[in-house]
Amino acid sequence: MALEQIVKPEIAALEPYQPGKPIEELERELGIEGAIKLASNENPLGPSPRALEAAHAALSGMHRYPDGGSFRLRRRLASHLGVEPHQIVLGTGADEILELLVKAFVRSGDEVVYAWPSFAMYPIVTQGAGAKSVRVALDAGLVHDLTKLRAAVTPRTRLLFVCNPNNPTGTSVGAGELDAFVKALPSHVVLAIDEAYCEFARRPDFPRTIEWIARRPGSIVLRTFSKIYGLAGLRVGYGVGDAELVGYLERARHPFNINSVAQAAAEAALDDVAHVAATRRVNAQGIEYLTRELRALGIEVWPTDANFVLARAGGRATYERLLREGVIVRPLGGFGLDEHVRITIGLPEENERLVKALRRLRQEAA
Ligand SMILES: *Cc1c(COP(=O)(O)O)cnc(C)c1O
Repeated sequence: MALEQIVKPEIAALEPYQPGKPIEELERELGIEGAIKLASNENPLGPSPRALEAAHAALSGMHRYPDGGSFRLRRRLASHLGVEPHQIVLGTGADEILELLVKAFVRSGDEVVYAWPSFAMYPIVTQGAGAKSVRVALDAGLVHDLTKLRAAVTPRTRLLFVCNPNNPTGTSVGAGELDAFVKALPSHVVLAIDEAYCEFARRPDFPRTIEWIARRPGSIVLRTFSKIYGLAGLRVGYGVGDAELVGYLERARHPFNINSVAQAAAEAALDDVAHVAATRRVNAQGIEYLTRELRALGIEVWPTDANFVLARAGGRATYERLLREGVIVRPLGGFGLDEHVRITIGLPEENERLVKALRRLRQEAA
């Protein structure tokens, strides 16, 4: 029996997600040490010490199944966000919530609308369901064009993603615009607002999206512990939304999706407001520094509300050349941004190392 004849065509056609290159892999390939990774939007300060401690303490209970309902974490999150616990669904990363949305609402042949370039998982989960991706170009400033996004909705649209701030551009939309967009969206569309980076946003009118949830049934906001909370390796994300919608996702998820160490660490990370504040501070300073220094090198840099910057620093060639300097950034050729890289804000010394490496590249090219 030829497997290729029975595999579902939508699965065979999938292009797997391309993760940032791991530090260990680069060091092995080049035979070097001390490489730095500014490629996956991780927290450069590491995890909160309180989260680490809670994770250690939870290890001794690893022979038990975790609490399948993540009771404590969910209750803690609900009070943090000002919602009811049954409005929250936890996932192994926000990525799992994307999968659950598709699993619950998208059938083969349906349409899923999202801006492009945006998060690479949207096409993957859409394709996996045999559904059709409807991609709407960002505007000239690489910001979501909400008018065009609204116009792309048809009777076949089941799900619409808005990534705010947007990955990989760092750009964002404000409360006024988003509010008007949400009000105009037809009720047959499930709306998922992906706020993986919202804790970094600095614009004063950044939407307080969770407060709107009750006003628009069929909406969900996605958040993660992978970015500002520094727990990417433990895989915890969540969706906050309309209780009916959350109830369907709860039915679709695996019963023990969040492991016990992750539950304990996430709860402690939420409580460590000092670590979150320090992360935000290091990030804001890093944005100022990198924007100034890259522009001084003649490199175009976009305004960002996230923990990375989009820079027109040269595409694949710059990426490859930086690798040889022991600096990992993210090339964006797969997003149609052939001359750009995405640079995660690092520690001050890491940012300086990147700037020095880019300066060297410029001098070589001159
Ligand atoms: C990182 C990221 C996520 C999810 O990350 P998880 O690690 O799966 O929680 C979701 N959306 C965007 C836009 C991201 O950049």
